[in-house]
Amino acid sequence: MKLSTAALFFIPAVVAFAPPQAAFRSNPALFATETAAEKTTFSKMPASVKPGVVTGKALVDLLQHAKKEGFAIPGVNIVGTNSINACMEAAKKYGGPIMVTFSKGGGQFIAGKAADNSDDAASIAGCVAGAKHVREVAKLYGVPVVLHTDHCQKAWLPWFDGLIEANEEYYKEHGEPLFSSHMLDLSEESLEENIGICKQYMERMAKIDLLLEFELGVTGGEEDGVDNSDVDSSRLYTQPEEVYYAYKELGSVPNAAFTCAASFGNVHGVYAPGNVELKPEILHNTQAYIQEKEGSDDSKPMLFVFHGGSGSDVKDIQYAIEAGVVKMNIDTDTQWAFWDGVREYEATNREYLQGQIGNPDGADKPNKKYYDPRMSLRAGEEAMAARLCQAAEDLKCNGVLN
Ligand SMILES: [Zn+2]
Repeated sequence: MKLSTAALFFIPAVVAFAPPQAAFRSNPALFATETAAEKTTFSKMPASVKPGVVTGKALVDLLQHAKKEGFAIPGVNIVGTNSINACMEAAKKYGGPIMVTFSKGGGQFIAGKAADNSDDAASIAGCVAGAKHVREVAKLYGVPVVLHTDHCQKAWLPWFDGLIEANEEYYKEHGEPLFSSHMLDLSEESLEENIGICKQYMERMAKIDLLLEFELGVTGGEEDGVDNSDVDSSRLYTQPEEVYYAYKELGSVPNAAFTCAASFGNVHGVYAPGNVELKPEILHNTQAYIQEKEGSDDSKPMLFVFHGGSGSDVKDIQYAIEAGVVKMNIDTDTQWAFWDGVREYEATNREYLQGQIGNPDGADKPNKKYYDPRMSLRAGEEAMAARLCQAAEDLKCNGVLN
């Protein structure tokens, strides 16, 4: 714990959270338990990364490991237990970590559309409930799970505040935050204001081992009710100086851990071919710029994340991963996959789904086993999980545990 502060100060990107129990190391009994727990669970992962929700030092270890090994974790928007479980089912199948991502709208949906959402109460409660669901079941899948929240613009900060409070409460009881990380997207504001607000939150988050994802530039397109489809195209490409400014500012916070969603022509949603011009070289140039400024040995000092990856060319995705992208968001493609599974189920069983009684096998035959909601929802889950296995392959995130 003591040694980390100085190291952190000089190399802000290579952050390490102090383990919460570090203060008890002098107690031999606790030390023994901790040593036993430090055993490697996954042969190809850092020892701190274990099945279940990954936070703090283990999360930073996981992301740095991904950067070093050249893979990115799928960050998947979910809307309920069906999509959450599909994520973990996929991760178990492809043998890698997964990031379960709650949006403000997704959280509200989990709480229920009829729930009172004054002051974002339902959005907060739904995210917290979803996070607790993941915490209860994640270990049963035997994979590392990152609990994250998506875009939060300035007007949505009350939602963010509610989530941070939930983390602080959880931390008091468990010595770790409820979530692994949260995103602040203040890219609509000036660079100074964006990073200024991020820094204030970073100070609060660093105290409870939470990682911050921030955004520079603007991700185009439309997602979760935010429409950036008409934004000036120059803002779709981040400048290296801007990233370095953020790196220095956030890196000056003790125990800070952060990732950067720098726009490089990416957009939310799927568009006709030719409409999206990705320039992942922006990320490569930015890493080189920061390395030079810092005189660092690390050729990739920044941890990047990739928004709006749906529909992107695999070559572009993998070139971005080479530039230090450790997570790619997936929403549009898994939305389609889930629906496509339900659609196909209905198409296959249509004649058994037209009434409670009566189908091609007989006018008095019951259809209960066809219209049981678990049947169509399960078809959605399976299709979503299959799509995620493909995404994991694109991101080289398959078979990275053992
Ligand atoms: Zn996004």
